[in-house]
Amino acid sequence: MNRKYRKAIIAGNWKMNMTASEVRPYIEELRSLMPRTKTCETVLCVPSLLLPALLKATKESRIAAGGEDVSSHESGAYTGEVSAAMLSDLGVKYCIVGHSERRQYHQESDALVNAKIRQLVAHSINPIICVGETLEQREAGLTMDRIAYEVKSALYGMEDLRLRHCVIAYEPIWAIGTGRTATAEQAEEVCCGIRTLIRSMFGARQARALSILYGGSMNAENAEELLAQPDVDGGLIGGASLKPAEFSKILKATDQGQ
Ligand code: PEP
Repeated sequence: MNRKYRKAIIAGNWKMNMTASEVRPYIEELRSLMPRTKTCETVLCVPSLLLPALLKATKESRIAAGGEDVSSHESGAYTGEVSAAMLSDLGVKYCIVGHSERRQYHQESDALVNAKIRQLVAHSINPIICVGETLEQREAGLTMDRIAYEVKSALYGMEDLRLRHCVIAYEPIWAIGTGRTATAEQAEEVCCGIRTLIRSMFGARQARALSILYGGSMNAENAEELLAQPDVDGGLIGGASLKPAEFSKILKATDQGQ
């Protein structure tokens, strides 16, 4: 983590868990446990239906609200979809895009991920762009090839100025929800590789300012070591974000990891 040049971000991903009535008690407990001084940008990404309750409960707090998905379209006849304009109007600051669960269960292509990112940045919402390799790709020595392909596709056509809205999350698919975490060295190797790639695409200044997160079974025990890596600027946290006590310990670990 290098706080001189970029923001440390800890983002929870609730996925399809919790209900609107559970939001306030969760936020009250989390706020009572959060470090007193601002250690990092704290984000909670929740299902669209829970966003109004989250925004209400986090008003005047240091917690930013994030979506878990967005439509690739501006508006119109797309039943069931939620647009970037709708998220922005509510006050949502971040949105996860290209999560491996959406790529796997909803057949989201790289082109679709790119279209969603364009919608978000057009509405000044920061996309948290997820990229990651499968175990087979890692074992075949194809990790960086896969990551480079996903990063380039996600950022295709992105203007330099808009890149500052983006956050990239390296999430090895084999580590998500499995309890199997990448080692700190593996996480650093890929996050550093992503920064090198961004440098070649957008230049040194943009690469230095980009926050790159690690996600995949991060928890209170392993967070400190992962966050101590120079190119790991924070975490995207699924399971461990569901319990305020566990999540707050990860927030505290960002103090140690600087
Ligand atoms: C995720 O889904 O983004 C994630 C990292 O999940 P978990 O922390 O549960 O592995």
